[in-house]
Amino acid sequence: MTNSKNVLFYVFGKGSLNELPLLIQNKRTKADDYCIYFVDRFLAESPVLGSLSKMENDLLFFVDTVDEPTTADINRVYSEIVNSRKTHPVVIVGMGGGCTLDTAKAISNLLTNGGRAEDYQGWDLVRVPGIYKIGIPTISGTGAESSRTCVMTNMEKHLKLGMNSEYTIYDQLIMDPGLSKTVERSQYFYSGVDTYIHCIESLGGRYRHAIGDAFSYQALTISREVFGAEDMQDEGSREKLMVASYLGGCAIANSYVGVVHPLSAGLSTVLKTHHCIGNCIVMNVMEEFYPRETTEFHHFLEKQRVTLPTNVTANLTDEDFNDLYEGTIIHEKPLANALGEGFREILTRDRVVEIFKRM
Ligand code: NAD
Ligand code: ZN
Repeated sequence: MTNSKNVLFYVFGKGSLNELPLLIQNKRTKADDYCIYFVDRFLAESPVLGSLSKMENDLLFFVDTVDEPTTADINRVYSEIVNSRKTHPVVIVGMGGGCTLDTAKAISNLLTNGGRAEDYQGWDLVRVPGIYKIGIPTISGTGAESSRTCVMTNMEKHLKLGMNSEYTIYDQLIMDPGLSKTVERSQYFYSGVDTYIHCIESLGGRYRHAIGDAFSYQALTISREVFGAEDMQDEGSREKLMVASYLGGCAIANSYVGVVHPLSAGLSTVLKTHHCIGNCIVMNVMEEFYPRETTEFHHFLEKQRVTLPTNVTANLTDEDFNDLYEGTIIHEKPLANALGEGFREILTRDRVVEIFKRM
């Protein structure tokens, strides 16, 4: 039986970022206590930085999102912290999108468990709780704020997998819809639709969980309101999407994804395509696996006047297509969830290549 856990505490609402100083202050009990902040690079020049209540002996890392986090990136940051002898912070704060939230989660686990990031890629490999951590999402959709994983790519092993553990879950969230106001329109759509895709995949799967389903149904209802709205980015919609993202992350802790995520992971290992846009590129051609949802997704694109890249696999070699196939089929759990244990007979190499060629 799954013993499920969700985020323990959260503050929600416009302006809730103002709660951060107090939450941090509660943890600073000694004069030399310090915190480590991971902040999305887009905020480097923003007045929001002033809300962090950063003190002189705190560490601040800006997280770049040009590429999604790799195990090597996490190990490099970890070494930097070890070298600066700041391995016992009282709080870790992650503020940004999924890349930043996941980086903060991974470092929190490494600081108490030791070793290397790749040692914990998998299920329930983290041995002891990480450093107390506060997550502050600035873009909605992946559910990284509420999920029990932190996704990292291991380049040597061609493996995109997180530290899936109850210890990876944030201890505290601050969900302030005011923060997602500045997200660029297409990015807002790509990331936001990740919630929708997570939910249709888990509801369409074989491993169901009554509470996971309930989270998914509600997240789906809200996602449909947002992407069917005239303006998916107005204040009300941003607030709704933040809720849907949170619920979607809770849902995924109790279930698995389906066909879309493995194909998207294939794209990301070969073309470095980012998670959310990759999912959209895949979802666009999912008629045979998710017919109704693919049509609905096309309506979302049209309604929100968002376009997707096309011909993304046009210049690939046979060897690339092999890698795309391998990078997809390695994801046994979600594929078995969607298609049953015989998924390899359904997703033959030829069929997978044919799907990729339509993207
Ligand atoms: P991201 O971190 O990739 O950021 C996307 C872009 O939006 C970046 O350019 C970033 O700087 C920008 N951005 C973020 N907030 C902004 C704001 N308020 N205003 C302006 N720009 C802003 O975003 P994402 O799509 O949330 O995350 C993708 C990552 O999450 C991937 O690495 C993926 O593997 C991971 N992921 C994690 C989980 C999980 O459960 N942990 C689930 C799905 C995906
Ligand atoms: Zn996803």
